Amino acid sequence: MIEKLKDAGLRVTPQRLAIINFLDGNTSHPSVEEIYKELKPEFPSLSMATVYNTLQTLENAGIIQEINIEPGKRHFDPNPYPHCHFFCRSCKRVFDIDLGVEQVEGKRWVSDFWVENCYINLMGKCNSCMKSND
Ligand SMILES: [Zn+2]
Ligand SMILES: [Zn+2]
Repeated sequence: MIEKLKDAGLRVTPQRLAIINFLDGNTSHPSVEEIYKELKPEFPSLSMATVYNTLQTLENAGIIQEINIEPGKRHFDPNPYPHCHFFCRSCKRVFDIDLGVEQVEGKRWVSDFWVENCYINLMGKCNSCMKSND
């Protein structure tokens, strides 16, 4: 991700680096608030505005994507490629859902349709919440 940041001509500041490191390989689709809470102890001068701006910059550069799945919250995914999501209304976690998007020669396909974007959001209860029956 750091390489991608440099490729996009963006300056690598310590705070940007921390946000990227936190997101890199992260499959929990954290919200802006979660990222801020996680990094604030290490970077006391970090502000919500910096987190927002950095995420916006990374999104504009196509390095990450924003997921509008929980009302009133902005979640981010370090995987910029089209895929589908599931939101558990009980534990508020966001999961990746495989709806058969296939990668062929650097492009993504669903059967013989070339997928440029994907905004499928499913909502319900995840497996562990179903089991705990809350
Ligand atoms: Zn759940
Ligand atoms: Zn995802």
